[in-house]
Amino acid sequence: MFIHWFPGHMTKAIRMMQKEMSIVDSIIYVLDARAPFSCVNPAFDEIIGQKPILYVLNKADLVPKNELFKWQNYINNNHSKCITTNSTMKGGTKIFIKSLLEVNKEKLDRYAAKGVKKTIRAMVIGVPNCGKSTLINSLIGINRTVTGDKPGVTRGKQWVSIDKYIDLLDTPGTLYPDFSDQQKATNLALIGSINEEVVDTNEMASEILSFLFENYPDKLFEKYPITEISEKPLENLAIVAKRRGYILRGGEYDYERAAKAVVLDFRKQAFGKVILEKINNDDK
Ligand code: GDP
Repeated sequence: MFIHWFPGHMTKAIRMMQKEMSIVDSIIYVLDARAPFSCVNPAFDEIIGQKPILYVLNKADLVPKNELFKWQNYINNNHSKCITTNSTMKGGTKIFIKSLLEVNKEKLDRYAAKGVKKTIRAMVIGVPNCGKSTLINSLIGINRTVTGDKPGVTRGKQWVSIDKYIDLLDTPGTLYPDFSDQQKATNLALIGSINEEVVDTNEMASEILSFLFENYPDKLFEKYPITEISEKPLENLAIVAKRRGYILRGGEYDYERAAKAVVLDFRKQAFGKVILEKINNDDK
């Protein structure tokens, strides 16, 4: 599968992020826990520079706990502080704030030594659909305060306060303009970060069927009677079409509809909690 995934407006988004960076103290790097590795955008590296990062493995409710904690440990040990969240639920604010202050401790201490209580301004970044807005909304709770148009802040940018001393800036979801890693592209398509229109649904469905067969065969079998994966993708989709009764007028299977159903099944967790990218703490 070959996916082109860099719409022009993303260049604009990256520029906006670069511009805001001078007044940003810290980064909140949101990753979809189903595919954390694919959510890492090398285009962010340059922008972030040396700013302290809090990683958020969001959509934690969608993946097996043991795999989630392996990722969390790995990021904690090799990169920076990492927390896990289910942004559709309230209640994560305390740990979020504590963790953000922790990664910014050095700066806060420096200001405190001068008798100043510094407000931390953090930019929330991540690929489209990883849950940035939902996360911010869950953190704001009922105390929503829009703090845009502060001195030094680009007009029109929506900063929100989640605490007296913490302001967050949402940014447009941004992808990496690199077509070489098609596995990443497929993962991003499956988690809904790449526009459906640029993705071949048949191939995406075939990939997820093969992946589930390899990694979660029981869960796959509970849904579709697939006991082996054919090299010919349409043969796999035929099993789905048959099970679901997706037959066209002439008696042919409706592969397109079957493919869409499989992708939707994945997104609706019909196969249970599935992680697309596992990590072994030893090997990365
Ligand atoms: P953004 O593009 O990064 O701002 O993503 P959104 O905040 O718009 O979220 C995209 C979709 O993911 C929405 O349907 C959210 O309801 C859903 N979502 C966000 N966070 C979570 C989460 O932690 N768990 C689950 N299950 N869904 C989430």
